[in-house]
Amino acid sequence: MIPLIDVGATYNELAVEIDEAVTRVLSSGQYILGEEVRSFEEAWADYCGANHAVGVGNGLDAIFLALKALGIGPGDEVIVPAHTYIGTWLAVSRSGATIVPIEPNQHTYNLDHDSLKSALTSRTKAILPVHLYGLPAEMDEILLFARDHGLYVLEDAAQAHGATFLGRRIGSHGDAVAWSFYPSKNLGCFGDGGAVTTNDERIAKRINLLRNYGSQKKNEHEIEGYNSRLDPIQAAILRVKLKRLDSWNQRRALLAQRYLKNLSVEDLKLPILPKHCSSAWHLFVIRHNKRALLSEKLLEANITSQIHYPVPPHQQPAYKGALVQTFNLPIAELMSQTVLSLPIGPHLRMEDVDYIVDVLNQSLG
Ligand SMILES: *Cc1c(COP(=O)(O)O)cnc(C)c1O
Repeated sequence: MIPLIDVGATYNELAVEIDEAVTRVLSSGQYILGEEVRSFEEAWADYCGANHAVGVGNGLDAIFLALKALGIGPGDEVIVPAHTYIGTWLAVSRSGATIVPIEPNQHTYNLDHDSLKSALTSRTKAILPVHLYGLPAEMDEILLFARDHGLYVLEDAAQAHGATFLGRRIGSHGDAVAWSFYPSKNLGCFGDGGAVTTNDERIAKRINLLRNYGSQKKNEHEIEGYNSRLDPIQAAILRVKLKRLDSWNQRRALLAQRYLKNLSVEDLKLPILPKHCSSAWHLFVIRHNKRALLSEKLLEANITSQIHYPVPPHQQPAYKGALVQTFNLPIAELMSQTVLSLPIGPHLRMEDVDYIVDVLNQSLG
């Protein structure tokens, strides 16, 4: 069976170094924060081209704590994409702010910046773009709109490690950038992990407090904080894996190019890559009205495919009834009914891609 992504393969490739790193932490006696977390934060900020990185417990907390650090809460509105992982939404609703979803662009899958204007009210505080599937959102237009209307921009970059927009890596375009290191992300640890990067020292300091009981100094709690710290063992693992991120992403791009060049199925919609962006190719997502048939043919040929995401957040039971508005989001719904993710990852073989392409190209004939 060809898996969607082979997470364990990243361990096999780096087992000696990762074992060493884990042993180093275990024998250090420092199991919360400390040097290991600081070293990774420095390396991650440096990689992202940001002044600061703060390690937190997971990606959801990264978005949530960034919202808190920006002072966003009840009474505020946050513009979010309708087509995203529910984590984006859950962070906003946990903050007490109101979710204002906007439709995706059908070609990039990212939030349609032309819809920003219609979502704007006097209560809008922030835009939360997601670089979905690894492709950066249109940051220029988003930042310009935000500047014109005095809004914060908080990026959900959980799928975009190493992606670039206008030649600059994602990590410091907006006011704050939230990361997840969930195992299957482009940079993933072997458990939960997350971070926020920012150029703003005040935001970094605030998240430093928020993640650690509102405290910098023992027994001194400046604000009402949380417990959401990046684990030092995970930080040590991430430091090892970070060295491979670029080569793994290059490998993903090669596989994606092969799919793009050779897939030829009637009425199939392929992901696009605008010239001013490089994608992290976190997922390779195609669209087809006969998605069920395609995934069935793939399964018969021992190929795993998945749907990201079969039910959009606004149709999840978690949000049904809880929201006063009834959202009209037909494009997001169409996306959830037609998207299909094909295997991609640094350890997928080129001949596997060729095999998957062959199966798909023959699937409707
Ligand atoms: C993975 C992901 C998250 C949440 O990250 P966790 O570390 O699992 O909490 C949020 N948003 C998007 C777009 C994601 O892909």
